[in-house]
Amino acid sequence: MSRAGRVADAFRAVFGTACAGVWSAPGRVNLIGEHTDYNGGSVLPLALPHRTWAAAAPRADGLLRLHSARFPGELVQLAVAELAPGAVRGWAAYPAGVAWALRRAGYGTGGADVHVETDVPLGAGLSSSAALEVAVALALTGLAGRAFPAGYAARLQLARLTRDAEHAFTGMPCGIMDQAAALCCTTGHVLHLGTRDLALRQVPFDPAAHGLRLLVVDTRVVHALRDGAYAARRAGCEAGARALGVRLLCDLTPSQLDWGLWELAPPLRPLLRHVLTEEERVARVVSRLEAGDPRAVGESLTAGHASLRDDFAVSCAELDLAVSVACRAGALGARMTGGGFGGSAVVLAEETDAAGVAREVGAAFAAAGHRPPRVFAVEPADGARRDR
Ligand code: ADP
Ligand code: MG
Repeated sequence: MSRAGRVADAFRAVFGTACAGVWSAPGRVNLIGEHTDYNGGSVLPLALPHRTWAAAAPRADGLLRLHSARFPGELVQLAVAELAPGAVRGWAAYPAGVAWALRRAGYGTGGADVHVETDVPLGAGLSSSAALEVAVALALTGLAGRAFPAGYAARLQLARLTRDAEHAFTGMPCGIMDQAAALCCTTGHVLHLGTRDLALRQVPFDPAAHGLRLLVVDTRVVHALRDGAYAARRAGCEAGARALGVRLLCDLTPSQLDWGLWELAPPLRPLLRHVLTEEERVARVVSRLEAGDPRAVGESLTAGHASLRDDFAVSCAELDLAVSVACRAGALGARMTGGGFGGSAVVLAEETDAAGVAREVGAAFAAAGHRPPRVFAVEPADGARRDR
């Protein structure tokens, strides 16, 4: 039986009735373009083969009942009409926020029973939150009679909506990358998304065809300061933009970097330097991929890590160890991916070196007394879809 079929069966076991459909959305890794998506910059994520499924059925009484296989037996029950920011705690805030945002935007969502399952690791910087939001958004709009959004414009509209839901209901001031990746990524490509105008392009990326492996190293650490530090970096970037008289830091061109550094208060300078140099690295990576030379992107990945570590200051000991050991073990390049302070690193390696790189990283973590990391190879997978 397909995974969606098993999720539909699980729905029946939880709610005692059949679901009306199953929708799914992937987690993502960002190849490069980190902390740029709230500065009007570019990002380059790919969808993971790991997905979140939402099986759902409509309810006539306006109740939203939520169940996750990650928290078996815990059934959250909410009245859709009473949903408000700050009112829902824990994991249910993500899907409840989506229901609230859809209703507010006039999508006509009513009550529903929703069961979710995922194989995206939670809190690993691989965007289980956006996979959850997007799968639930598609389920609720599908139940309300809307066709699966065929074009990018409609998908990006949903991306904005689910991002706003995460802001309002969880307080996480995330950019648009994660939701856009879950909705718009396609097999065999990275998604080149300009976050100022939401212009997007599918850039071919097929590591296996070039004898390469893209590894994800999930460090399995989540540092407590993560969310507060993310918000602080974002606030710093916004203060920098205000001081320089632009709306977004990426309204400055890389050639204006030196001027900007001169104008800014010293604590804000490294933030600007990261954002503008990262913009250049994204452009370089895109041009190398389009030239059919994925090996050449390794160097930009490693340079991007140094910038996140030294200028943006969002790395941590485990991520730095994963990156430095991977590079020493022969990887073409490596960097932390996602917001930072734990989570995952992404490593580009020759196929023949990948097993050795994974072994060396594991050994280094053991020697340092860290929990064993999870290392796995990924290929760009498909974005969100209706499964049945
Ligand atoms: P990331 O998005 O990198 O995985 P976040 O902290 O943004 O990390 O989101 C993780 C949170 O999302 C989890 O702590 C949980 O509250 C929620 N979540 C994601 N997927 C699920 C799921 N399938 N079931 C229940 N909660 C989930
Ligand atoms: Mg998240």
